[in-house]
Amino acid sequence: MRAEVGILNLWGMTGATLTVDTAVIARNTRLFASLMRGEVMAVVKADGYGAGAELVARAALAAGATQLGVTSIGEGLTLREAGITAPVLSWLNSVEADFGAALHHRIEVAVPSLRHLQAVAAFARSAGVRAAIHLQVDCGLAREGCPPAAWPELVAAAAAAEAEGVVQVVGLMGHLSSADNPADPVNQREIGCYAEALHRLWTVGLYPAHRHLAATAAALTLPSARHSLCRVGAGLVGIDPTGTGALQGALALTAPIIDIREVAAGTPVGYGHTWVTQRPTRLAHIAIGYADGISRALDAAASVSLNGQRLRIVGRVSMDQVVVDLGPTKATLGEQVVVFGPGHSGEPTVDDWASWCGTIANEIVTGIGPRVRRTAVGGAQ
Ligand SMILES: *Cc1c(COP(=O)(O)O)cnc(C)c1O
Repeated sequence: MRAEVGILNLWGMTGATLTVDTAVIARNTRLFASLMRGEVMAVVKADGYGAGAELVARAALAAGATQLGVTSIGEGLTLREAGITAPVLSWLNSVEADFGAALHHRIEVAVPSLRHLQAVAAFARSAGVRAAIHLQVDCGLAREGCPPAAWPELVAAAAAAEAEGVVQVVGLMGHLSSADNPADPVNQREIGCYAEALHRLWTVGLYPAHRHLAATAAALTLPSARHSLCRVGAGLVGIDPTGTGALQGALALTAPIIDIREVAAGTPVGYGHTWVTQRPTRLAHIAIGYADGISRALDAAASVSLNGQRLRIVGRVSMDQVVVDLGPTKATLGEQVVVFGPGHSGEPTVDDWASWCGTIANEIVTGIGPRVRRTAVGGAQ
């Protein structure tokens, strides 16, 4: 990482910080690689699930991931600009996307429709190169990917484009709708649909090396979805949608105490006076708010921790700050409270925040705002 100096450093020390443990990312990556006995694609979309795309990518690649996955071509270009040379797949592009830039920077693209195939092939033809593509089938989400009814036509066109020499079908990509509930029979239906899509490729002589259906949840719990490659995003940072307990949390979010004050019983706190102290107490004022990813729609159980002790967030969450009820807990100005961490020391976890906010862990980590400083520990960069 770049050395930071002067005023930036001062700001970094005093503001909210997301600490990313690259050794834990490496451990999680190795777990997926061992489950798969195949390849792991590290999915680093949405800035590496809030943790920093380059940081997560490098940690995962060093631990055995062989490819990277992103949604837009732009995200792929950012990885290339950072000097990352590993294979990159981008899978959510409009037909107007800059497939020329993708080709130029060796970014593979998913092809979900005939129109996309034509667009990619046109760029490849004019550049005189062969585009590496992953055909993408939709087995049940009714969003990205080619619906099964249109699959034979897309496959035939892809075979023709491969024969012409403008594309090479290197992958077959699918995505499960309900893998976070492994017992849902929908999973087996979608796994079967993917297998049929693969057979259709074989019948026209296309044998893609990379066959990938599973993301984090299916890689952990649905062996028949694993094929040759899994696309793991959330799991790298320790988010486990199926609750297997196999992963470790790689992220810790901390924020400093700006002020501590003693208040009388009956003191209203924050915008709209939605909370009033019931007893004389001490309030600590923490520099992190909804612009940093602390949802204003939190429920009343939400807390942070200080030296292993939970402190409840009271009153409204503001854009830049929250107030916690310290009670008799010892605290010092400038000290960092833990908003979430891996949970080893009694602090809240990302999953706790997800439940307080009525959402999933992915939304918590990708919602961490841009002014939260990212810093890495763990060495494996
Ligand atoms: C985001 C995404 C993934 C990664 O999913 P996780 O559950 O975070 O591992 C995989 N595949 C597709 C198509 C995605 O959009």
